[in-house]
Amino acid sequence: MKKFEYKKLSEIQKEKNDSDLTYADLLSTIEWREFRSKIINRDNGKCLKCGERNNQLAWWIDGPFEVFARLADDVEKKYLREDIILSSEHIILNVHHKYYIKGKYPWEYEQDSLMTGCSMCHTKIHDTEEILIYENENLENPKIVTKCNKCKGTGYLNEYQYHMNGICFGCNGKGILN
Ligand SMILES: [Zn+2]
Ligand SMILES: [Zn+2]
Ligand SMILES: [Zn+2]
Repeated sequence: MKKFEYKKLSEIQKEKNDSDLTYADLLSTIEWREFRSKIINRDNGKCLKCGERNNQLAWWIDGPFEVFARLADDVEKKYLREDIILSSEHIILNVHHKYYIKGKYPWEYEQDSLMTGCSMCHTKIHDTEEILIYENENLENPKIVTKCNKCKGTGYLNEYQYHMNGICFGCNGKGILN
């Protein structure tokens, strides 16, 4: 399997015409990776809905059980007296666009229009909220987008984290079909 590698947009543009660029290509850029981590840092590395943080596979027990772990933060250390927080869920933080604007790169949005959410809350947001796509910067002509049913509009597939960083192959990470 090819290892997922972030590249500068300009490098990808050397290999592909602009019209052939997919949203997955845009999510594979160093530009997106840097913007994304800026948003996650702004949100203190937590899901804004439930407060969860990223964790990693800690160990795998024969069968369907996997255990995920992360270091406790100061508050947890103080009140829970734990250094490590275990979970049966793999928590992966996503950065959610509250709306889209046609033709904009994913890292060109106002920071206010983005939020950090764990993959579970992110799926819930897309399940319950309509996401609009605007014609232009002035937020004119909004249309409700048709969600990709594979990733429920999130653009990511948690269970395929080890392939393409989880970018949905149903919609190429766009989350929408149109
Ligand atoms: Zn959450
Ligand atoms: Zn989203
Ligand atoms: Zn999808």
